[in-house]
Amino acid sequence: MISKVKKTKPHGVARVGTSPVGVEGSPLRNGTPPVGMDGLIVRAEGSSAPWAIKARDPLVRAGSSSARGESLPVQVVGASVAGLFTACLLARRGVAVDVLERTDRLEPMPRTLIVTNRMRQILGTLGEACVTNEIRNFELFTDGRVASVTLDQPDLVIERAALIRSLADSAQNFGANLVFGRRFQRLAGGGKGLTVQYENCEDGSQEERRTGAVVGGDGAASRVARAAGWPAQATASLIQAVVALPSDLAAHTVRVWFVPQDTPYFYWLIPCNEHEGVLGLIGEAGAEARVSLERFLARKGFAARRFEGGRVPIYSGWVNVEKRLGAGRVFLVGDAAAQVKVTTVGGVVTGLRGAVGVAESIVSGRGGELRGLRRELDAHLWVRRALHHFTQPDYSRLVDLLNAPARRALSRQSRDQALSVLWRLCWSEPRLFLLGLRGLLMRNGTPPVTPSRSREAAAVAVATPGD
Ligand SMILES: Cc1cc2nc3c(=O)[nH]c(=O)nc-3n(C[C@H](O)[C@H](O)[C@H](O)COP(=O)(O)OP(=O)(O)OC[C@H]3O[C@@H](n4cnc5c(N)ncnc54)[C@H](O)[C@@H]3O)c2cc1C
Repeated sequence: MISKVKKTKPHGVARVGTSPVGVEGSPLRNGTPPVGMDGLIVRAEGSSAPWAIKARDPLVRAGSSSARGESLPVQVVGASVAGLFTACLLARRGVAVDVLERTDRLEPMPRTLIVTNRMRQILGTLGEACVTNEIRNFELFTDGRVASVTLDQPDLVIERAALIRSLADSAQNFGANLVFGRRFQRLAGGGKGLTVQYENCEDGSQEERRTGAVVGGDGAASRVARAAGWPAQATASLIQAVVALPSDLAAHTVRVWFVPQDTPYFYWLIPCNEHEGVLGLIGEAGAEARVSLERFLARKGFAARRFEGGRVPIYSGWVNVEKRLGAGRVFLVGDAAAQVKVTTVGGVVTGLRGAVGVAESIVSGRGGELRGLRRELDAHLWVRRALHHFTQPDYSRLVDLLNAPARRALSRQSRDQALSVLWRLCWSEPRLFLLGLRGLLMRNGTPPVTPSRSREAAAVAVATPGD
């Protein structure tokens, strides 16, 4: 129920970070590109000034938001990885942006994540502050067997809270407004755009904001998605324990265990630094995942220092990222759009790519990055389908079949090139193709993810957790 409706000015601002650059003095507006984000993909092609917005940009045409300093900023819901990066990209292109976040300040939960080197290509120096370790080797264990894979390009171990802080700082430097303590409630199309309703979390009052475009970066249980008519999505439970690294594990090596009698998924141990790591698993249900993890920790002689956990969506098919409501546009990005690789349930790099795609769509009406992202997510879905019903003998055979050429294929290609990895693996060892085919046929036509029956279905990975 709406208790009280306040109409607010669009720029109710709370700043984070230390940068003195505000909206009016945004680097975009004085023409000086800020430091960082040097590797950003989105550019104004054909423009001499890459930060200039083009006259044919739809939002400028619609008059809903523009570099001319008009009101009605784009509203990004959720100040986390995907939402903040979308805000950076839009603000950098001269689009006025408000980021509305339900928490009362920027205090993201710390979480150790592993991502591919692609994060560096997308974020440039902006992401460096959050990198705590680089991974050069993977050890894959199953039933007393082990296969080692050395990476040509290291994976990155990152601290999520540090990444979110960097993105928030950068978004503000480009001129985005961060507004905390605002919980998205609902939206409606009408007139020339959208009316969006937020709860002010401090006093419970309601406020309305008008805009031409809303971007839902509000995570797996996205309210923006529900409000605009997207269906709910299946999620998996990820839980990991912070543990001391065992003395026989080098800080640049990740261990993965396939133990199908415990879980159809896998366990991982990722070193955060020379002393600590996170040992976790993807579970079908949160409580069961915790029990399995504790049993595994005990079996391997680890003591949990603390636990980190949460729910991640399971990609079961491409989610169109845009809906039109009257004259307004609603977009989804990151976990809200299930932009997660289902082999590994890694959503950081794919969420960043989704942000690039949504920013491209808003600014220029093109979505080239989204097409590539869709192909990638679909390839991961096929791998997961093949692996989902693997038994212990299947995993043993998989590890045995990882011969030298197959391992080289895994070394050279990152998990962001799933199709290429699959092709090279099957080329180097055709029996891997047959094994995968058998995995697909074992499904007996049952889809691996059935949201109505199993909201907590999860993923299997051939290589690593996370990204
Ligand atoms: C334990 C664990 C380990 C993981 N490991 C990895 C890994 O190794 N590698 C990897 O790539 N990925 C990993 N992931 C997945 C990854 O963390 C997510 O895919 C990614 O963080 C999603 O980012 P996001 O910005 O889309 O959403 P979120 O990070 O979920 O952010 C959503 C934001 O929206 C806000 N919000 C929600 N509702 C509202 C509302 N109504 N109004 C306003 N604001 C709202 C929230 O407060 C939050 O700030 C892991 C996840 C977990 C739980």
